[in-house]
Amino acid sequence: MDMLIAMCSTEAVPFAKTGGMADVVGALPAALKKVGQDCVVLMPFYRTIIGKDYDFKLIKKGLNVPMNDTDEEFYDLLEAESGKVTFYFIKNDKFFDRNYIYGSPKGDYRDNPKRFSFFSKAILSALEELELKPDIIHLNDYHCALVPVYLDQIKKERRPEKDYFKNTSTVFTIHNLAYQGVFDPQVLEYCGLGTGYLDINGLEFYGKVNFMKGGILFSDKITTVSPTYAREIMTPEYGERLEGVLGSRKKDLEGIVNGIDYSIWDPESDQGLCTNYNIRNLSGKMDCKENLLKNYFGRGKKETPLIGVISRLSMQKGVDLIAEAVDRIMDLGFFMIILGTGDEKYQKLLKQQQRKHKGSLSVNITYSEKIARFIYSGCDMFLMPSKYEPCGLGQLISLKYGTVPVARDTGGLSDTISNIGGEKDIDSGATGFKFREYDSARMVEALKRALSYYRNGRLWNRIIKNGMSCDFSWKSSAESYKKLYLSLKK
Ligand code: ADP
Repeated sequence: MDMLIAMCSTEAVPFAKTGGMADVVGALPAALKKVGQDCVVLMPFYRTIIGKDYDFKLIKKGLNVPMNDTDEEFYDLLEAESGKVTFYFIKNDKFFDRNYIYGSPKGDYRDNPKRFSFFSKAILSALEELELKPDIIHLNDYHCALVPVYLDQIKKERRPEKDYFKNTSTVFTIHNLAYQGVFDPQVLEYCGLGTGYLDINGLEFYGKVNFMKGGILFSDKITTVSPTYAREIMTPEYGERLEGVLGSRKKDLEGIVNGIDYSIWDPESDQGLCTNYNIRNLSGKMDCKENLLKNYFGRGKKETPLIGVISRLSMQKGVDLIAEAVDRIMDLGFFMIILGTGDEKYQKLLKQQQRKHKGSLSVNITYSEKIARFIYSGCDMFLMPSKYEPCGLGQLISLKYGTVPVARDTGGLSDTISNIGGEKDIDSGATGFKFREYDSARMVEALKRALSYYRNGRLWNRIIKNGMSCDFSWKSSAESYKKLYLSLKK
């Protein structure tokens, strides 16, 4: 084993999940082990974890974390193993024994700045208690973004030879730039960070404090989940007011595309499909399509071009473009099946459209992995017109299932789909159809382009095979992270 990585996060599969970050933190440590790195995970212990079928061992009890001169918090340290990776849990019931991770449906928990500054400080305490000296502490999103700030504070306050973490470097990964942890400046007092940190070169952010800004400024390297998104977030359009701060760290900012787990997502072994298929024999895909047409449309010939959409129904995902263009899409002769949950506004709009286009538009407002698998396997095209897309998983799964992505040219979609502008692109392995401008007319044009290739079965088969032969497994992402860690080894 080369290095020890301490991966820190508020979510990790299989223990707690609200979004894609949990999948990354759940999969990357095992993938790192496979490329010769050691990795442990540190996360909070939530009420919602209790009952999950794991063997949680209590390692230490009643440990204390002094937050400032007067406040101290306590925690117990637990351990469990999943997928050959050791997970350490910081158990503080005052902060984490609740029904939700970040807040109830009414809104965020008001003490989130306390909860997550405690979590950040407890990470460092736990590593010392465990006598682990990681080469890298890898932080994910704002909830543990104060770790590098505390390390900076330690460096400034202690003599270097006494610094337990003097050989440790930090990596901060941005999964969701929309959640930055912006709070009133008074929270710094509880955090034990002097007003020195309330500075333009510190956590100060338009009169508030911004935890994520701390992670960006004080970590040795910053990553996000695709190279294009890494560039985009340095612009005002995508930067969520942190574009300047991110730009100031440009040479330390890198994008590494997430992987997917092919042991779960593979049409050859997927138990949810009526017939399995693979790149050498695609006939099962036609069975899946016929099944989908029969069950969700009650009609349709196998020649009918069929579009699938699986998405959160939110502005980010470009659902407004889809709703706006339904008539034009149907006019082109497509059938379309949509699966998603989210904003009521979009649910209503899509349901209205479904009534109008009965028999050729199927709208399913639910969260169902079962239906998702029917769609990934049974459709011809997968539509993903995101306004912004840090990485995106849907297009990676659809490529594996031979369902050709039609997507907006942004973020991870830019990096993982190679565009077909002409036949020669198919020779060089291109996999999908992209459009740049965020506009429904451009999206419909891309669909038309896809349709013209679809009509030529020979070319279409080659496009499908180009997609199915792509490798977006975790192995190559883990290699990229390993290279990054190695560049930081002290
Ligand atoms: P995001 O994390 O921004 O929602 P991604 O494309 O990265 O978008 O990942 C979304 C994942 O969630 C995909 O694997 C997709 O299949 C799945 N998904 C989204 N909505 C649904 C749904 N309603 N039912 C089943 N799976 C869904």
